[in-house]
Amino acid sequence: MSDQPGVFCFRQDLRLADNVGWRTAVDSGHPVLACYVLDDQTPGDWVMGGASRWWLHHSLTSLATDIRKLGGTLHILSGPWADTIGELAKGVNAAGVYWARGYEPHFVEQEQRLNATLKEHDISARRFRGTLLFEPEEVRTLNGDPYKVFTPFWKACRKKEAPGECVPPPKKVTFSEADIDGTSIDALELLPTRPDWAAGLRETWKPGEAGAWERLDAFIAGPAGRYHDTRDKPAEHGTSMLSPHLHFGEISPRQVWNAAMASGQDDAGLNVFLSEIGWREFSYHLLHHWPTLPEDPFRDTFVRFPWRRDGASLRAWQRGQTGIPIVDAGMRQLWHTGWMHNRVRMIVASLLVKNVLVHWRDGEDWFWDTLVDADLASNAAGWQWVAGSGADAAPYFRIFNPVTQSAKFDPQGDYLRRWVPEIAKLPKKYIHDPSAAPAEVLKAADVRLGDTYPRAIVDLKETRQRALDAYQQIKKPA
Ligand code: FAD
Repeated sequence: MSDQPGVFCFRQDLRLADNVGWRTAVDSGHPVLACYVLDDQTPGDWVMGGASRWWLHHSLTSLATDIRKLGGTLHILSGPWADTIGELAKGVNAAGVYWARGYEPHFVEQEQRLNATLKEHDISARRFRGTLLFEPEEVRTLNGDPYKVFTPFWKACRKKEAPGECVPPPKKVTFSEADIDGTSIDALELLPTRPDWAAGLRETWKPGEAGAWERLDAFIAGPAGRYHDTRDKPAEHGTSMLSPHLHFGEISPRQVWNAAMASGQDDAGLNVFLSEIGWREFSYHLLHHWPTLPEDPFRDTFVRFPWRRDGASLRAWQRGQTGIPIVDAGMRQLWHTGWMHNRVRMIVASLLVKNVLVHWRDGEDWFWDTLVDADLASNAAGWQWVAGSGADAAPYFRIFNPVTQSAKFDPQGDYLRRWVPEIAKLPKKYIHDPSAAPAEVLKAADVRLGDTYPRAIVDLKETRQRALDAYQQIKKPA
């Protein structure tokens, strides 16, 4: 074995199993130098948000522990990604640099830059597939164009070869002993301190590869086969809660796919579940082909949409104080746990962009900072879907009524009682819309609207009409 190290750079693939690049680096015949580079400088507007930073701290800690068990070190560095790795590779006289592809626009630029540096210094560059089932450019319409509609996209994916066997983690690794001037995970200062708002995150999550498998195993043994039935009920644990684990690559979609296929659970649930993994793939497909998706409306007509500025309503929405219980429940779940149920994400987003008429970018920014699964592709695609400006979006005129949605998907009000305790004593008939409750019912439940619980910040009927009128304006020729 040559002494020249092979540098493996972890990024959004913080796992040792089913990590082809890692495995190839380990099997290359060169001692491996494992590193992670925190780049807080390159990504422009999309520097990692607070909840993601909390997650990253714990995920890196878990990965570093797993690497230590194999006898090695996860070297931590910070700085511009490409330059830092380029310098590292030159400094240790690396034989090669290995990494898994990133799909975010700034990753694409960084990779080009790293390739150029490595080429200049005659160091081999080996880039592997990222944490997707299908590479975004591999899925094309018959005309060779990217897909803009989910259903044919997913059909085309499903016609392709199945994702294949997972790659087992290496049992033995020879690590490089090169002396690296790195830093520690603590020194990255990823955790909140003043104040420490992460108690709810700590209660809810176990970041890292082992935590990801616990979630997957529980889901497969539990609701996977009934997912088509349970996934829309926010009071139930009916979805996998794998999103942050998938985002950070602690588990690969292929591992999830293969586990689902081997589970023996009912196909009806599994197929719907896998199609949700398909939405993740579709979001990346869109981001790859339309890299401005996080900033600009996918449908050009929405450039002229008459958004309102309404700081007070935006703040009430962020704090879960809109006076609309399902929205407040969702926003408080998000603040407390860093996650929100998908059905509720759609409802809270719809209230903000349609009833309040605040720009979807404001909602996208708040989610970016507060979600542990904040993901450039899925967040942008999700917001644009709800706003009506996205690819294959909900038609604009289909405006969710949050009260009706709440009664349909949380009929007993259990989710509301959990997250909005000040209205918990209201009977299920009125809990979805306290403003409809007679005075004696409010009194008996100790609810004083405008005092113990806010009055609704919008009139749903009027603002629905206002949204439809606003939409008419952009439909007219400019
Ligand atoms: P499950 O229902 O168990 O689904 C399994 C996996 O499929 C998820 O972990 C996720 O990776 C993927 N998935 C499921 N639904 C979607 C979807 N609609 N779009 C893309 N992928 C999906 N998801 C994120 O991962 N990050 C985000 O930043 C994000 N922002 C969103 C913003 C809005 C406004 C909306 C409406 C949706 C957003 N989603 C986002 C999608 C979805 O809400 C979450 O992926 C899902 O709630 C995660 O919970 P789960 O892991 O239990 O999902």
